[in-house]
Amino acid sequence: MSHDLDPRHLEELKSNLQVRARQLREEIRQTLVKSDDEQYTMIADQVRDLEDDSFADLMVDVNLAEIDRDLQELRLIDAAFLRMSDGTYGLCDGCDSPIEIERLRATPFASRCFDCQSVFERNHVQNIGHTL
Ligand SMILES: [Zn+2]
Repeated sequence: MSHDLDPRHLEELKSNLQVRARQLREEIRQTLVKSDDEQYTMIADQVRDLEDDSFADLMVDVNLAEIDRDLQELRLIDAAFLRMSDGTYGLCDGCDSPIEIERLRATPFASRCFDCQSVFERNHVQNIGHTL
């Protein structure tokens, strides 16, 4: 299934994602530097000039609550880059419809349209409620 995402929009969203990924990596690096943990400061040294893929690999060994959210967002961004290269970016995971451009502008790594996302969040919250 193809989508009708304007190539200019795609470029714009891609560069937004690249800027955000750089910010996140820098935030994570700073947190590692300040962590007072020898192993983490060593990793921080290594990650400075890394490619995106190797960065994620290195982070597998890091278990710091402060960077959990950053890492999670970074993984979503990585997934968005993958979808860009295989041509499925901008299509909803749930219903295969094009995701609204307003939504992609606000959340460039979104993988669901507004409707499917709210259904997903409702189910997700309910599931958590059951297990607790
Ligand atoms: Zn959808």
